[in-house]
Amino acid sequence: MNPAPPGRAGEIAAKVEAFVRNVVIPYEKDPRRDHHGAPTDELVAELKDLARHAGVLTPHILGEHGHLTQRETALVLQKTGLSPLGPAACNTAAPDEGNMYLLGKIGTDPIKQRFLTPLVEGRCRSAFFMSEPAVDGGAGSDPSMMKTTAVFEDGAWVIHGRKAFITGAQGAGVGIVMAKSDDGACLFIVDLPNAAIQIERIPNTIDSSMPGGHAVVRIDGLRVPSEQMLGKSGEGFQYAQIRLSPARLSHCMRWLGACLRAQEIAVAYANRREAFGKVLIEHEAVGFMLAENMIDLKQAELMIEWCADIIDTGSLATTESSMAKVAVSEALMRVADRCVQVMGGTGVSDDTIVEQVFREIRAFRIYDGPTEVHKWSLAKKIKRDWRASTQ
Ligand SMILES: Cc1cc2nc3c(=O)[nH]c(=O)nc-3n(C[C@H](O)[C@H](O)[C@H](O)COP(=O)(O)OP(=O)(O)OC[C@H]3O[C@@H](n4cnc5c(N)ncnc54)[C@H](O)[C@@H]3O)c2cc1C
Repeated sequence: MNPAPPGRAGEIAAKVEAFVRNVVIPYEKDPRRDHHGAPTDELVAELKDLARHAGVLTPHILGEHGHLTQRETALVLQKTGLSPLGPAACNTAAPDEGNMYLLGKIGTDPIKQRFLTPLVEGRCRSAFFMSEPAVDGGAGSDPSMMKTTAVFEDGAWVIHGRKAFITGAQGAGVGIVMAKSDDGACLFIVDLPNAAIQIERIPNTIDSSMPGGHAVVRIDGLRVPSEQMLGKSGEGFQYAQIRLSPARLSHCMRWLGACLRAQEIAVAYANRREAFGKVLIEHEAVGFMLAENMIDLKQAELMIEWCADIIDTGSLATTESSMAKVAVSEALMRVADRCVQVMGGTGVSDDTIVEQVFREIRAFRIYDGPTEVHKWSLAKKIKRDWRASTQ
């Protein structure tokens, strides 16, 4: 364990790290998993109780919903990520972390009391309903393709549509639903479960850390009172932007923690395992893989800190979070892949968490914007800036 940096975030991070290493990691072999390998709600509730007892539940949110800075959050969330079970245990997991952030920023007092408080206290989970099935031609990489509709009828908004890959929808207590009115995109907050929101199926996916999996959902005549619209009709994308950069970055923070742990495991393997008369780490190809990991991990950390500092200035940091998301997810993919390689057959087995980290990072290169979509939007900006500078 590294010595904690000074300050409140350092102290919180040290407590979280001790909790994750001493209490959460021993649960990694706990068999309470759903059909797609994610921890069951029973297991998560047990871990949350332990986190509450240890004073590390929702550690990034302070009393009265005050929040650590993004730079401080980076340190703390990285520690929760040291185990794939850590974010769920400490209540820093997606999509709850991003949803809590959004509600803390834009929720009215009654909304905060009704929906945010139970989330912060770890009494329920939440889901964010934006993406739609590709087979329907709905929103995916391009959110403007949204097909789910919201129509104001008889004093309430009525929502119809289908959603896909909705993390944690199964078992959630709070939902943030995006739909399109005549004015444009809208965000609604609703209690779950709701008879008008039906889980059609939960596909098996490559990853397995997120409780509830990633559901395909049918929304059929969901009625939402106007006071449960977040912002105004047509402002949904603007409001979603507030959540966008911090939520993207928090994935980077947690998965950096997971890859730091994978590297620890690979380093231990390479130092103990022998081949051709010496320990693996003394074979240059192996040593170089671990050295390249060290470099990628540090670059990922610095990219996260750079972007966090920009969000902390009050900027939406859309460009910077795109750059950070691409750089970090791609670097971590290389790290996870090298850890698997260094460990040979053990690396692809579930004897350690390394194979799970590899699978999780593979999915991370897609959600919160695939790499190509971020690069494409950065290229558009480069073109725009060049045109502006030459006029
Ligand atoms: C594990 C997981 C969890 C998720 N959780 C949620 C959730 O909780 N809530 C939610 O709303 N959504 C969620 N999503 C959905 C996620 O946001 C989408 O998968 C993502 O936006 C991509 O959309 P798509 O899958 O429809 O891919 P498509 O839009 O079909 O894109 C496929 C591929 O096309 C390429 N591509 C697309 N556009 C461009 C471009 N402009 N330039 C170059 N290449 C391009 C990219 O390589 C991309 O990967 C989750 C997804 C996953 C995998």
